[in-house]
Amino acid sequence: MTGLQPPRGTHDLIGETMRRHRHVIQTAARVLATYGFEEWSTPIFEDTRVFARTLGETSDVVSKEMYSFEDRGGDSITLRPENTASICRALVTNGLTQSLPQKAWYSGPMFRYERPQKGRYRQFHQIGAELIGAEGPLRDAEVITMAYDVLKALGLADDVVLELNTLGDIASRQAWRDALVAYFRSHIDALSDESRTRLDVNPLRILDSKAEQDRALLNDAPRFADYLNAESQKFWDDLRAHLHDFGVPFTENPSIVRGLDYYSHTAFEFVTTKLGAQGTVLAGGRYEGLVAQMGGPEIPAIGWAGGIERLALLLEEAPVVEAGIALVPMGDAAVQKAASLVRSLRQAGLRAEIETRGNLKKRMERVVKSGASHAIVLGDEEIARGVVQLRDLTAREQREVALGDVVQCLTGA
Ligand code: ATP
Ligand code: MG
Repeated sequence: MTGLQPPRGTHDLIGETMRRHRHVIQTAARVLATYGFEEWSTPIFEDTRVFARTLGETSDVVSKEMYSFEDRGGDSITLRPENTASICRALVTNGLTQSLPQKAWYSGPMFRYERPQKGRYRQFHQIGAELIGAEGPLRDAEVITMAYDVLKALGLADDVVLELNTLGDIASRQAWRDALVAYFRSHIDALSDESRTRLDVNPLRILDSKAEQDRALLNDAPRFADYLNAESQKFWDDLRAHLHDFGVPFTENPSIVRGLDYYSHTAFEFVTTKLGAQGTVLAGGRYEGLVAQMGGPEIPAIGWAGGIERLALLLEEAPVVEAGIALVPMGDAAVQKAASLVRSLRQAGLRAEIETRGNLKKRMERVVKSGASHAIVLGDEEIARGVVQLRDLTAREQREVALGDVVQCLTGA
């Protein structure tokens, strides 16, 4: 076979790319643990129904982006486009709906049939967290602050802005939705074709429209803030007060409605201007009813997901590989000694490799190029005296060390 490429919109994670990716996950895992979150792992494919109804049949993800297929047994399977629905499915399947709250985090590949571009892929990776059984705005504030702390730990706090909105409760939304539909109907000629279709199926998505003509209309559209009932208003006020107390800066952005259909009250996005059109690095909100759709009781929850590729692209510097120790044995007897020494060094937790090819000069060139911190050179003469030559490649110093002292010398123990 020739000319094989990875499928469009997918990519291999190797070298620096993988190190950035791993760094995002490890850093986040540390922060999430301080909030009492535990890692969950669910299958990357699920019964199509886990996503199809729950994410909203009219959402972009369900209507255009899902990788769904019938497997050999005739079951309809979907590669997960996101992980929130799977986590709720797992909560119910594992009988955890009576042990609340549950604090779950996850990371892994997600699949969406999208038009690939920088920061937008068909297989991409998310890291996310769900607090299931979350009553009240303090929980929302904590979960948003947790995301902020992850971004801060990654050194990105100054590169992103937290944009916050409230979607209110169902009653508030219905009242506003009625007002919006009436408004758009009275301006139907000015709407884009796509938004005209949305008017019937999901009018709130019009607010997300990027079409110039729709944006113009949006300026005078009924504002949701004017339709919040007392309870929703209090939730919104308390959330902002808690965020203030936690020291998390935010701006209010009424156009954040989130792509998926199951949100209520809180919706938020962390946005950067550094990634062009793909500016949202992490997004989430409060959702209700999702657990019930999986066959459990009504349980309110709040969560978010961050795009690992987008976060990794933003990292100032790629994490470096730990410098190693190179063993350079000259001669057969030396190779044998080096083999047992390299094992001792590894058992002491050090990175160590044996360099066996070529003359001493060639080997040392390779060792220096590899970025090793030390080289250990030994030949027949050293073996006879039970020593090695230890070269500190950073300080450019060489000294003789007894074979039995090498490990201690390098671990500093
Ligand atoms: P967008 O508006 O960019 O399509 P979305 O609303 O579809 O985002 P979510 O479903 O909220 O995104 O996913 C959360 C995060 O996952 C996004 O903010 C983004 O960082 C990342 N993400 C989503 N889709 C992709 C993709 N196709 N490729 C890379 N990252 C993605
Ligand atoms: Mg999308």
